[in-house]
Amino acid sequence: MDKVKDLIRNVPDFPKPGIMFKDITPLLKNAEGFNRTIELMAAGFNADDVDVICGIESRGFIFASALALKLKKGFVPIRKAGKLPWETTKVKYSLEYGEDVIEVHNDAFSGGARAVLVDDLLATGGTAKAACELIEKTGGKINSVQFVIELSFLNGRDLLKNYKVNSILSY
Ligand code: AMP
Repeated sequence: MDKVKDLIRNVPDFPKPGIMFKDITPLLKNAEGFNRTIELMAAGFNADDVDVICGIESRGFIFASALALKLKKGFVPIRKAGKLPWETTKVKYSLEYGEDVIEVHNDAFSGGARAVLVDDLLATGGTAKAACELIEKTGGKINSVQFVIELSFLNGRDLLKNYKVNSILSY
């Protein structure tokens, strides 16, 4: 467990003053660390209960697609507005300043697919909450929500209280 934590780089004041950015690139380039992360994530739920692994753009894609490949599941991208080419459903959510929109293809969870939602980091929980709404709005069922890192002092779990939430590292 320490191994994974040792591979997260703290970058102060990025992308703006006062933010301590958790940089996952040292973890990604370390074969053992990256593999261990995906193994730990896979241990957080029962793969037999899951049809697809869903990642949030963009760092969520990295972990979600590796997990999907390991477990022989499909991958579903949740993207920032305007990137997906076909019919989509959108959810708007608020950020510290202003708002953002994420969207998913309308057929992403056809047949009531059971999904694991993945992102790199849980901060306030706003992004993951919006992604959960999107999955449910388009007919998907949420098995659990998986993060590499949780900033537990921001209480993002409170927003996700209706879901099973796992994180590998907590600060
Ligand atoms: P939130 O919606 O507040 O939970 O923010 C989560 C999203 O913002 C995730 O997609 C993260 O990649 C990103 N994020 C928020 N805070 C940080 C941080 N301190 N370091 C790296 N990424 C962050």
